[in-house]
Amino acid sequence: MPALSFEQQAMLEARLRYYRDLGIYDLYRRAEPDAPPIGEIATATVTNPEPEPLIPAQKPSSESLFSATSSPVIPAAERAAALQAVRDDIGDCTRCPLAFQGRHTIVFADGDPNARLMFVGEGPGADEDAQGLPFVGRAGQLLNNMINAMGLRREQVYIANIVKCRPPQNRTPEPVEANTCMQFLWRQIDIVRPEVIVALGSTAATYLLGSKAPLARLRGRVHNVREAKLIVTYHPAFLLRDPRQKAEAWKDLQIAMKELGLKSPKRSAE
Ligand code: URA
Repeated sequence: MPALSFEQQAMLEARLRYYRDLGIYDLYRRAEPDAPPIGEIATATVTNPEPEPLIPAQKPSSESLFSATSSPVIPAAERAAALQAVRDDIGDCTRCPLAFQGRHTIVFADGDPNARLMFVGEGPGADEDAQGLPFVGRAGQLLNNMINAMGLRREQVYIANIVKCRPPQNRTPEPVEANTCMQFLWRQIDIVRPEVIVALGSTAATYLLGSKAPLARLRGRVHNVREAKLIVTYHPAFLLRDPRQKAEAWKDLQIAMKELGLKSPKRSAE
């Protein structure tokens, strides 16, 4: 195959990333004149024992082949408008079953479009569904405390969720729901370009990392997602149920602070 120009490579990689955001991973090249007979290709395809993944594949890490050609950097002054364009694309969404299961509001995000730090939760609860903003209930109050403990204010960070509609009875989003909604979160991440993302709980970690590994295996280290460093910690709702784990969560937040070059304040999250 002839070498691709830089522009062709960039276009190809952007297209591949788009397909991955849609949950499409297996792509096959059309047979070329000197390609093996169709029978061989067909056999190779149907004997692939890999099941279809239920969760998105790991996004290209900053060390990956794709690192040089991420989506274009949106100038800081244009990010709010770019995010609004994503919100407009979502519209009055009916792309997944959550649209028909009692949601009142699509909860897009909250915070600074130019934030260096982004938090991603699971999905809106009752308070968020009523107010149209993420993390405004009891778990949100604790998240605000965690942010303050890092020496930041809520307005300085960007907060979003894996799904933008409330799952009934606050159940975990189904893979089809999360996978359908992720395309918009990836676009938000690519626009905001946070240096650090904190995944709150296992649903956020699963879909951001494309890994079903338990939280215990994902915590305590720095992952690469898109252009950002990603740190996994406990969901604030879990910390409300088991406050003894707050000290562990604080360790995770300190990793995020180190990545951001923030000085560690004296006190921990309450
Ligand atoms: N829990 C979440 O995961 N997200 C919210 O926005 C609120 C509670």
